[in-house]
Amino acid sequence: MRVERIALSGWRNYDEETVTFSPDVNVICGANAQGKTNLLEAVYMLTGAHSFRTRFDKELIGFDCDWASVLADVNSGDRTQTVKLLFQRGQRRQVTVNGAKKPSAALAGLMTAVLFSPDDLSLIKDGAAARRRLMDNAICQLRPGYAALLADYNKLYENKTRILKDWREKPSLLTALDEFSDGLARCSARMIRYRASFAERLAAAAGPIHRDFSGGGEELGIAYKTVSTVLDPRAPAEEIYAQVCAHQAAHRQAELDAGQCLTGIHKDDLEVTVNGMPARNFASQGQARTAALGIKLAEREIFKAETGQYPVLLLDDVLSELDSTRQEFVLNRIGGGQTLITCCEDEDISRRTGGKVFTVRGGRIR
Ligand code: ATP
Ligand code: MG
Repeated sequence: MRVERIALSGWRNYDEETVTFSPDVNVICGANAQGKTNLLEAVYMLTGAHSFRTRFDKELIGFDCDWASVLADVNSGDRTQTVKLLFQRGQRRQVTVNGAKKPSAALAGLMTAVLFSPDDLSLIKDGAAARRRLMDNAICQLRPGYAALLADYNKLYENKTRILKDWREKPSLLTALDEFSDGLARCSARMIRYRASFAERLAAAAGPIHRDFSGGGEELGIAYKTVSTVLDPRAPAEEIYAQVCAHQAAHRQAELDAGQCLTGIHKDDLEVTVNGMPARNFASQGQARTAALGIKLAEREIFKAETGQYPVLLLDDVLSELDSTRQEFVLNRIGGGQTLITCCEDEDISRRTGGKVFTVRGGRIR
């Protein structure tokens, strides 16, 4: 999967610009605030017409413009298709593929991308929510039934939480409590199996990548943590269901006392370790960045195994904080599909990479 060419009009700080990318590594250099991330964002938009930086389409349109467009030739397999995204002030966005109008969701099957941005350090350094989001987003794309399961779980969780919060004022609410708990246990049993299987694949793929990335000196560990009564998260769903129910039963009174949901897979986590030590507490900045990127690269391998094609890899500002061994890995040793890397280094980077180098200055690209 790759973007062959992209043309931007009125996009953020780009007036009119067209870029032809290499199918391999593309390095986008430039000082701060010149348009590197804006270019990456335009490419990312091709995966579903949603930005990774804003929910508001109007922010994408150049300050002095009434509309913005992104026009791109996207190659998936042996076919190149032309995607156009049009954003007009006060109107809904328009998506066309080969000239025919499409819903934004139609882009998902056309192009996939794995993005790494500085915010992804949260994968290592923050609480479990970021890691659960990574699992959920990836499994939603890989397993069609999972998104519905997740939506059901969230709805049941909201209902149960409301009961636990309000039962003292309205004791009649309690009649529905066990029903919601049971629904949650049934969803959990299936989701735990999906998450455990994904985590296992992620760990298997991330280990060798991280070893190579760190110059052979570091072992990355990834372990799935779920409800403590679940002995084997890959066991048949009925077995897991019974174990989740046991955990719920043991915590029923505590939940009523606390007025909140204390048990369930909304507390799941991926425990990330570097050389056996929890990365969240002990990894240096560079180690954290390496581990987070290793996890993203592992996700890319899983997508490749599932779909036969590498997603486009978008790396925003990964090079800072990495030593020369790790920078060399990013610039030259991520094989397979197309990669776009932004960095603030000057053009001396062109001597250190076999990739195509672009320089961005004030919304113009050389
Ligand atoms: P850094 O190295 O600091 O990450 P960058 O090259 O990635 O910099 P971008 O995030 O691409 O910088 O932003 C480039 C410029 O585009 C910024 O000065 C920003 O204010 C400007 N910009 C953002 N949105 C718009 C818009 N809608 N219209 C015009 N300019 C915009
Ligand atoms: Mg940037």
